[in-house]
Amino acid sequence: MPIVKNFFIGLSNNSLLNNTAKEIGPMLGANKVVAGNTIPALVDTIERLNNKGITVTVDCLGEFVVTEGEAIRAKDQILEVMYAIYNHNLDGHISVKLSQLGSEFDIDLAYRNLREILLKANEFNNMHINIDTEKYNSLFDITQVLDRLKGEFKNVGTVIQAYLYKADALVDKYPELRLRMVKGAYKEADTIAFQTKEEIDENYIRLIEKRLLSAKNVTSIATHDDRVITHIKQFIKDNKIERDRYEFQMLYGFRSDLAETIAKEGNNFCIYVPYGDDWFSYFMRRLAERPQNLNLMFKEIMKPKILKKAGFVTIGITAIGATIALVSRLFKK
Ligand SMILES: Cc1cc2nc3c(=O)[nH]c(=O)nc-3n(C[C@H](O)[C@H](O)[C@H](O)COP(=O)(O)OP(=O)(O)OC[C@H]3O[C@@H](n4cnc5c(N)ncnc54)[C@H](O)[C@@H]3O)c2cc1C
Repeated sequence: MPIVKNFFIGLSNNSLLNNTAKEIGPMLGANKVVAGNTIPALVDTIERLNNKGITVTVDCLGEFVVTEGEAIRAKDQILEVMYAIYNHNLDGHISVKLSQLGSEFDIDLAYRNLREILLKANEFNNMHINIDTEKYNSLFDITQVLDRLKGEFKNVGTVIQAYLYKADALVDKYPELRLRMVKGAYKEADTIAFQTKEEIDENYIRLIEKRLLSAKNVTSIATHDDRVITHIKQFIKDNKIERDRYEFQMLYGFRSDLAETIAKEGNNFCIYVPYGDDWFSYFMRRLAERPQNLNLMFKEIMKPKILKKAGFVTIGITAIGATIALVSRLFKK
């Protein structure tokens, strides 16, 4: 359903909608997949997950950073979250996007911000810092920054997007780093990335297997796809991969029952917890991946107080999204 995917990816990149949504606060169902915008709310969420034997990686939301001041504020917010995790003795680490640290306009600023985060992380029990991957045109910056930092810090890692033709080479390049393996969330050209679900799934499974057999650090298998999870669990068993060499990851608010079951089976499990006001772009990408996630929106939109608060923007986005989802369903039938 490329039309639906393109639509939501388009919305996720719209800075006007992102700024408007920031002022309104998490809604349209996003409050089910974003863990609040205050430190106490975040701490509560992490405590609840930790009590179930699940660790977390916190993503301080925010991608449209265009000034040095915004990049420094983003870095300070991350430091505040790290301090809260450490101070409350919680089991968690940080996921960060280079773009929020300023890489889109000053790569050296992003490097300095990330280095400051890593220095602080060393004081906080060597907390792990993961660099999330974004659009393909930022991959070069990510690997450059990573290559500068990985000698100095052992607690830095990144994400492999299996839809990229380059993913194979990246798995080979970083055996010593902790890596998260994902299918990939952005729209990329066919000169850069596999396009069909079949090709992406096949490459995803192949790369996870290769990584599990060759890596010298933890591999995070980040997917909600039970077919992939079942296959990989069997692979882990057949190849006697030790428990401390892998973990499963899912996004907060999605497939929580399955996450808890996998954790109860004795596997390490980590939930990716988005936090903060800048929820719109993140939420639109989740809708692009799986338009059925619109049901989160519909449940929320029926509440009269929400309609009143969000007014035109909410109704507009929801109506367009709903129309596209319905039309694409009809075509599918
Ligand atoms: C922890 C984490 C971190 C991530 N970090 C990044 C990153 O740094 N960079 C990046 O590009 N992408 C990232 N992603 C997103 C990732 O690339 C995918 O876009 C996203 O995970 C959707 O793909 P999927 O593997 O879950 O399976 P999909 O191919 O979307 O779904 C496969 C099947 O899984 C089942 N399923 C999926 N979701 C649900 C659901 N909510 N309820 C019920 N069944 C469901 C359905 O049967 C579906 O057909 C991350 C994902 C996770 C989980």
